[in-house]
Amino acid sequence: MLTILYRGPLASCDYDCPYCPFAKRRDTTAQLRADRAALERFCAWVAGQERELSILFTPWGEGLVRSWYRRALVELSRLPQVRRVAIQTNLSCRTGWLADADRDTVALWCTYHPGQTPYDRFLTKTTELTALGVRFSVGVVGLPEHLEPARRLRADLADAVYLWVNAAEGHRYTDAEAVDWTAVDPLFDYSRRPHRTRGRACRTGESVVSVDGDGTVRRCHFVPEVLGNLYDGSFRDALRPRPCPLEVCDCHIGYVHAEQVPLYDVFAGGVLERIPAEPVWLPPPSRPRGSRSAAAC
Ligand code: SF4
Ligand code: SF4
Repeated sequence: MLTILYRGPLASCDYDCPYCPFAKRRDTTAQLRADRAALERFCAWVAGQERELSILFTPWGEGLVRSWYRRALVELSRLPQVRRVAIQTNLSCRTGWLADADRDTVALWCTYHPGQTPYDRFLTKTTELTALGVRFSVGVVGLPEHLEPARRLRADLADAVYLWVNAAEGHRYTDAEAVDWTAVDPLFDYSRRPHRTRGRACRTGESVVSVDGDGTVRRCHFVPEVLGNLYDGSFRDALRPRPCPLEVCDCHIGYVHAEQVPLYDVFAGGVLERIPAEPVWLPPPSRPRGSRSAAAC
């Protein structure tokens, strides 16, 4: 099986998070047209493959407000060779279109951005996903001002829904802060500090690749070396085990594939959409299940 992380040229977003790590822009009509053409070319390539594929869309901006990303998820989910198709999203879009997707294959990696959307609106979207039978995880960026919203969300989400916390870029966590975040996400320790990966085994470049809108294939989003092109097939000969050339890997969509990190076991069956094989969160015994946290009262 080959896992593909696809990131086309789309770089616009309907949100404006002050901590956004991406160089957002307002896409022109021509840029949107180019993104759509690139995505449709990628989908056509996938449709022509016999090999099993798992695909995660990791756009610079928000994909699901664009009809071509919604259509891509639906269409790819129905292909027999596609084992999983998932996308990173802020979940601002409507959810009804997912009824047309194969719910065994499609999945969402949803990020809650307090300050960009009303809490109840976001929570309602997660309820809709559950009603539709869509696989999804939910997460927040671990900034101090997000702790209370994250606690509230954790208390209101169904226990089976995993809420992840990404360490905020450039933020060092004291042990006390880490305890707070770990109470929300028991797996927070994996994100807290960058993983030292230079010279160590990583599945990218062998069973995982990154693809951009032109079809340029790299091992991951972080190592610039080009392995070939998707559309002329030149990447295939380059697929082999190779150690990580970077000092550290600090992004989940990268280090989840590093062999030193045991997350393929933790997320077995849900690596791309970040859903653990077994529920990792249990409500504190003193708090009745489903009740709201003190912060919500
Ligand atoms: S939703 Fe994501 S891409 Fe959009 S502004 Fe926020 S962090 Fe950036
Ligand atoms: S460990 Fe991270 S940076 Fe290194 S090759 Fe793997 S995904 Fe890329």
